[in-house]
Amino acid sequence: MPSYRDYHRRSLADRDAFWREKAALIDWQTPFTSVLDYSRPPFAKWFVDGRTNLCHNAVDRHLAARADQAALVYLSTETGQDSRYTYRELHAEVNRFAAVLKSLGVGHGDRVLVYMPMIPEAVFAMLACARIGAIHSVVFGGFAAASLATRIDDAKPKVMVTSDAGMRGGKAVPYKHLVDEACRLAQHPPQKVVICNRGLDPAMTKVAGRDLDYAELRAQHMDAQVPVAWLESSEPSYILYTSGTTGKPKGVQRDTGGYAVALATSMRDIFCVAPGETMFTTSDIGWVVGHSYIIYGPLINGSTTIMYEGLPIRPDPSIWWKIVADHKVKTMFSSPTAIRVLKKQDPAYMKQHAIPTLKYLFLAGEPLDEPTARWVSDSLGGAAIIDNYWQTESGWPILSAHLGVEEMPRKFGSPSFPAAGYDVRLLHETTGEEVAAGEKGVLTIVPPLPPGCMTTVWGDDERFVKTYFGTFRDRPVYSTFDWATRDADGYYFVLGRTDDVINVAGHRLGTREIEEAVQAHSGIAEVAVVGVADSLKGQIPVAFAVVKDPARVATPEGIASMRKEVMDTVDRELGAIARPGAVHFVSMLPKTRSGKLLRRSIQALAEGRDPGDLTTIEDPGALEQIRAALALRP
Ligand code: ATP
Ligand code: MG
Repeated sequence: MPSYRDYHRRSLADRDAFWREKAALIDWQTPFTSVLDYSRPPFAKWFVDGRTNLCHNAVDRHLAARADQAALVYLSTETGQDSRYTYRELHAEVNRFAAVLKSLGVGHGDRVLVYMPMIPEAVFAMLACARIGAIHSVVFGGFAAASLATRIDDAKPKVMVTSDAGMRGGKAVPYKHLVDEACRLAQHPPQKVVICNRGLDPAMTKVAGRDLDYAELRAQHMDAQVPVAWLESSEPSYILYTSGTTGKPKGVQRDTGGYAVALATSMRDIFCVAPGETMFTTSDIGWVVGHSYIIYGPLINGSTTIMYEGLPIRPDPSIWWKIVADHKVKTMFSSPTAIRVLKKQDPAYMKQHAIPTLKYLFLAGEPLDEPTARWVSDSLGGAAIIDNYWQTESGWPILSAHLGVEEMPRKFGSPSFPAAGYDVRLLHETTGEEVAAGEKGVLTIVPPLPPGCMTTVWGDDERFVKTYFGTFRDRPVYSTFDWATRDADGYYFVLGRTDDVINVAGHRLGTREIEEAVQAHSGIAEVAVVGVADSLKGQIPVAFAVVKDPARVATPEGIASMRKEVMDTVDRELGAIARPGAVHFVSMLPKTRSGKLLRRSIQALAEGRDPGDLTTIEDPGALEQIRAALALRP
């Protein structure tokens, strides 16, 4: 085994040989002719002319040796369902779903929008898309109709796959009416909507001619054998939207071959899961962690993956560890927010089950603070706690410990080192020069981006280049829009974002998106939304709004009713997850002379900190109003 340093150095200095070896971890129907085509920077094409397929690699190729091994274990503490699908059974279900999609006219390159709760059919649908070369676009089942409609119009799906309802905390959360509403709002609604009916919403209605019942369709294709579509390595496998700080969400486009190779690499070198071993990722299929480490990563690797529908504290806060014990989980992947929720419970729950098989707990999505990391490390006893840093755009870790390569010490608060192929540099915000050890810089990646990373913004190459490679005029590097430092030993520490995004209980919401939702209320003139630190949820959105008619907020009753209307508007536009924890009314907002909102200063005041450099403020009175509003209100 090489040392981590040699491994990483080789991934950059001897790129072709390194990735050629890694490419052998997956099956190719047609071998690639070159490892990388970087003739049109910053667009990278990995494994040129190679033909492969994600579904073949995740399912079919394991049939020879693992047909009777569990591929997918599905557990729901919401419905009580407990199912196990071997690779053979998974293969059969995926073929059925693929046959259904084909019968509806879905083919190579067509988009299928998946708006689903955490049920096995969501996995079958995604793998079925991959099988026939269709592009799935999963939208987190929790987004409101308006958000769904924007994503429908961007992806223009031929077919949508949904369910009557999700379940949360024992209550059904109807989905289907949101799909109907989104289809009404959209300019390019799908021709057909396939419904996986769980029987949770008796009030669900169907649109004649458009809505189809999956169980009925499936019954017509029980013995289906749908051939795999062999895609050129760079052909898209899926689109996944980021939370969209600029209002219009960015459709991250992923390739096929590069993604499969990157995931296979990460399963061994980072996540340390062998074929036949079990991984439990607690994320949702609507997020990138779900795509990569509930579905594609473990399955491409021939491992067993656990899909869990339910809360971490129901029926009691030991449920995750019970799952780990029952299924002999080796590697778990969750988020710091979830761990903070557990931290508020009786610590005895953490020790209720013997979990000797658990070797690693990976945490990602937001900064992992030292107290939380220490607490979970102490509570779990043996398992290594591994902070890892990445983005929807990257598709797999950018920074992580690499215990599959070399056992190196970890530091609390640090996601350790760059993954293979990532040429990470910390650059000074304005000069673009590399910063010294211990200094704060923008975390950037010198292109070409490694295999697995986004290849472009769906339908908008220019936006890809401008958004991600336009930060430093003289250096066309990829910006993550996050701040970081690196210590003298080479460990990275991620400090937060250079733009404004709110992280509510692990859900990332753009402040701009929430502001736009508030502004959908016709009585609002202007609004600033900031994330305020919250010990439980990470952050909560707080809104400062300017009303068009001041008389409406002249009385306490007026304020209360306006506040409720604003919150209801956000619920409708974006979903309850984005609802501000507080709405304050002011007559003006603090802005720079160039007209930019001073969000950072507002946030500082809301968190009781110093508002910082105010030399560019247009009217200091505006900040006084924020102070006064905060003093008055909860
Ligand atoms: P958008 O790009 O639309 O604003 P988003 O950035 O909120 O969406 P994700 O791609 O899911 O959505 O989140 C990636 C971001 O999460 C990173 O850029 C970083 O800010 C944060 N993050 C992820 N992992 C870590 C980590 N281990 N430590 C600190 N921050 C992390
Ligand atoms: Mg982002």
